[in-house]
Amino acid sequence: MLRTLTRQFAPINRSSFIRTLATTTIPETQKGVIFYENGGKLEYKDIPVPKPKANEILVNVKYSGVCHTDLHAWKGDWPLPVKLPLVGGHEGAGIVVAKGDSVKNFEIGDIAGIKWLNGSCLSCELCEQGFESNCAHADLSGYTHDGSFQQYATADAVQAAKIPQGTDLANIAPILCAGVTVYKALKTADLKPGQWVAISGAAGGLGSLAVQYAKAMGLRVLGIDGGDAKKELFHSLGGEVFVDFTKEKNVTEAIQNATNGGPHGVINVSVAEAAISQSTEYVRPTGTVVLVGLPAGAVCKSEVFSHVVKSIQIKGSYVGNRADTREAIDFFTRGLVKSPIQVVGLSKLPEVFELMEQGKILGRYVVDTEK
Ligand code: NAD
Ligand code: ZN
Repeated sequence: MLRTLTRQFAPINRSSFIRTLATTTIPETQKGVIFYENGGKLEYKDIPVPKPKANEILVNVKYSGVCHTDLHAWKGDWPLPVKLPLVGGHEGAGIVVAKGDSVKNFEIGDIAGIKWLNGSCLSCELCEQGFESNCAHADLSGYTHDGSFQQYATADAVQAAKIPQGTDLANIAPILCAGVTVYKALKTADLKPGQWVAISGAAGGLGSLAVQYAKAMGLRVLGIDGGDAKKELFHSLGGEVFVDFTKEKNVTEAIQNATNGGPHGVINVSVAEAAISQSTEYVRPTGTVVLVGLPAGAVCKSEVFSHVVKSIQIKGSYVGNRADTREAIDFFTRGLVKSPIQVVGLSKLPEVFELMEQGKILGRYVVDTEK
């Protein structure tokens, strides 16, 4: 069974840190978790350290969050092929130890984040308008580009996240995907302070951050998830009303009663197809359902008569762009959201996947790449 560790970091002294880096050589090999086929063995072993291209930084990843997307990538259950062999991971926080010749926005010793969107073309109509994640040439960390489940990872410097010096690297890791994603999804729901938002999957990795971002935005938060431990976590994060889908006989009625007619917005971060369709039933008239969670092969069904008469909207939301990333990190840095994390060694990744598959994870697991 995995142990729960909490770690506190002393603020990093920048000048001494750079000196250390100057005397540290980058090794040829490193520890990482790699798989050679979908669903195959997750091997914790020595692998080569990648070399940054001209536009890339090389990040010495200290911690990486484990997102449910990493489990999808390993299983290969989405209609988008992964690169093989693959080093997964896309919530990596670490230190820049090398950079390509054309990198202007990072210096050696800076703190950087490896995000899901590793790079994009930056010249298509979508990139031009800030929809970089929707770029047809998007390169994805831990999916089409080796990610953060290794001690050294590369990222396009333009997309890598800027993290302030002194930041606790274990705690910021989940912000790099989960935090950015739910922050963007809440913006996509276009709600006003005082309105109700329902978070379906409220005590998972994305959900536990969504509750806090929503609160910080002045929203009233109803959470849906299963079990007493998840209920307790939800309330400890500031959530107001919890609906337990494993106990409640009529989830739709319970949500509508608690919110006096349904939430104005719903953020779907569960990995449950039926729960996603159900959100179109309980959402308030003129409300917005946001699709974020990506259960394999799922279809969201909305009954047309009610959809029209209630005039509801269904919108997809996919990670966030560079501005969303900067803003989501700013909420974290200002102490408005905290990561409910459990830290374990990178070698324990297969056990984390197992717990995630069983829906047993509270908040987020973060792996320490040194162990
Ligand atoms: P997670 O496993 O940490 O959390 C999922 C939560 O959903 C769990 O707490 C689980 O108990 C809960 N749940 C299960 N069945 C439910 C039901 N019927 N009703 C309500 N809650 C239920 O996963 P995560 O890391 O938070 O990721 C969630 C999903 O979001 C994954 O599919 C992931 O790939 C996807 N994702 C999407 C984006 C995006 O940009 N759209 C970004 C990151 C992750
Ligand atoms: Zn993710």
